[in-house]
This record gives sequence, structure tokens and C-alpha cells, in this order.
Amino acid sequence: MNVPPDSDAGGRSGDRFGISGGQRAAGQGRVPVSGYVKLDADADRVNSGADRRRRVDLLKRLIVVAVILAFIMPTIISLLVLRSLKVSVGRLEEEISELSEAVERLDAGDTVGMNENRRVSVDGTYVGEPITWSEGTVNSYGSRIDNGKKKVCLTFDDGPSSNTGRVLDILKEYDVKATFFVLGKEGPGYADLYRRITDEGHTIGMHSYSHRYDEIYGSLDNFKADLEKIQDLIYDYTGVWPVYYRFPGGSSNRVNRIPMEGPISFLNEENIVYYDWNVAAGDADTVPVSKQQIVDRCISGINRVPHEAVVLFHDSEGKRSTVEALPEIIEQVLAMPDTEIVPITEDTIPIRHVKVTGENEDMEEQ
Ligand SMILES: [Zn+2]
Repeated sequence: MNVPPDSDAGGRSGDRFGISGGQRAAGQGRVPVSGYVKLDADADRVNSGADRRRRVDLLKRLIVVAVILAFIMPTIISLLVLRSLKVSVGRLEEEISELSEAVERLDAGDTVGMNENRRVSVDGTYVGEPITWSEGTVNSYGSRIDNGKKKVCLTFDDGPSSNTGRVLDILKEYDVKATFFVLGKEGPGYADLYRRITDEGHTIGMHSYSHRYDEIYGSLDNFKADLEKIQDLIYDYTGVWPVYYRFPGGSSNRVNRIPMEGPISFLNEENIVYYDWNVAAGDADTVPVSKQQIVDRCISGINRVPHEAVVLFHDSEGKRSTVEALPEIIEQVLAMPDTEIVPITEDTIPIRHVKVTGENEDMEEQ
């Protein structure tokens, strides 16, 4: 095929469209250059048209992908953020509930499990050096105690409360006497409860007026002022001058800002005898405990203590399991051989987590 060098492009175009031979067969001779140019231009237009469609298609696809991404990506990101936020909120809620429980326990005067260094185990049982007990053991007033029977002292902290009446009813039902370490609560309803405690033969002791650690243990003067307030209140309501004390948080508490030697020495000077405990019902734990857990802890604790068990209960609002557990505990203790339930009196050996070396201690353990 004799194709002019300059028509090379046109020949390719003619081959492509199948018309170049026909044009030559018509004897028109050399096809004018302009014809090739026209064909080239047409081909280019077709080419460029196809390219444009491809570009448009590509652009459309890109737009669709961009739109999808624009809508889907924020949704995915939001879902991921939401999920991580939910996890964070869950963790924060857990922390809040743990902290609230810690505050409640602090308010309830319970120190058990708050500090690993304290001398009270997680279940509230005293794990320090036990008080030496022998035939010659005398009480804090210097008189010999009766070792004939094992003593169980049921003690209730933080009352009076809406539970106190029921606790008193149960004690009356079984004809046993207990000890109430009360707080300062004003009002006619409370006055009746303070009076019922003493009228029905129970021992009334002090557990501070305010039960606010920051106040009571803020300074020795604060401690003295608080003590005077609760002592006066009890005397006003009951006519009984109280001489027994239980430190909020126990004598081994770690929330005091002043050394405990100050308050302890002051109580000694005032002839006020303080009592801790060697069995804990565990009813002020962070985790709510069932009636059966309270029964089991008390009974195993009482069995572990050889001579005198001072059992710590909480007579505060919401301690329903304590009330429910009480009849079974009393029944089981009364069924123990050579064991009796007694209120704290001057015959009771003080159970103490922390002591100040001095004249009172000599009296306790001669
Ligand atoms: Zn308390």
C-alpha cells in the first residue's frame, strides 16, 4: 500500500474506519490532506468523547465514594468514640460507686479494710496482740472478773436509727441485754429510743456526737467538746451518766489527724472506759452482706475468741440484714455451752486495738 509518508496517520485512521480503500478506488487519486485531517479530527473527537465519558464516569465514581465516605466515616468514627465513651463512663460509674461506698463506710464509722496496715483484718476481726487472759485478769475498775462463763457482748454502733426499735424488740423477745454506742441525734423520736435503751436494761455508751472524723480527730479540743456534747445529751434524755466510749473508726483508726494518745489519755483522766471489738459482723463492708453472712461471721468469730467476745454491729439506717440476722445469732450463742450474753458493765474486760501505756493498763492486766 503506497501511502504517502505524510498520510501515515490518516492510513491508520482509514484502516480503523474501513473507508480509505473506497476513497482511493473512486480514482480521486491522492486524497487531499484536509480529508485526513478531518478524519483525524473526527477520530480525536470520538477519542476525546470516550475519554471524557471515562473521566466523567471516574469522577462520578469518585463523587459517590467521597459521598459514601463523607457519610459513613463520621458515623463509624462516632460509633467508635461512643463506644470508648461508654467504656469510660462505665469505669467512672464503677469508681463513683466505689467512692460512695467508701464515704458511706467512713460515715458509718467502720474502718475495716480501709487500710492494710491497720490491726483489723479485712473481715473486721482484731488481728493484733490479744489481751492476755488468765485467772487473775481484772477489769478496768480493778476487780476480779468471773471466769465461770464465756461472755458475749453484743454492741451496736451509730444508732439510734429507724432500726433501733426492732433491735430492742428482738433483744426483749430473747431477754438478753446489749450495749448501744450512740451518736447525738436530736428530736422527740430519738429521745424515746435513747430512753428505751436504758429503761430496758441495756448499756448506753458514747460513739461521739457528730461521728465526723475531720471534726472529732481534728484537734484534742474538738474531741473534748464533742465528747461533752454527747455525754450531756445522753444524760439529758436518759438520766444516765455514760462512762463507756467507742471511738468512731475504733481506737486503731487511721483517719485521726492528732495522735490517738491524746483522746485516749483524756478518756482515762475522765474515767471513761473505751471498748473496741474482737468480732465484727461485717455489716459495714463495702459490699452489702446477706443475713446468712452476718450470722456466719459472728458465730465463727465468737467461737474463735476464748473468753470474752465483743461483737460489733451497726445500728444505722439501711442495716436491715443486721436486724434479720440478730435472732439467729442470739439463738446460736444461747445454745453454746457455758456462754452468756451480757451488756458491757464494769465487769467487762476492755477489748482494745490501741492502748496508751500507763496506770490504766496496769489495772487491766495484772
Ligand atoms: Zn461508727
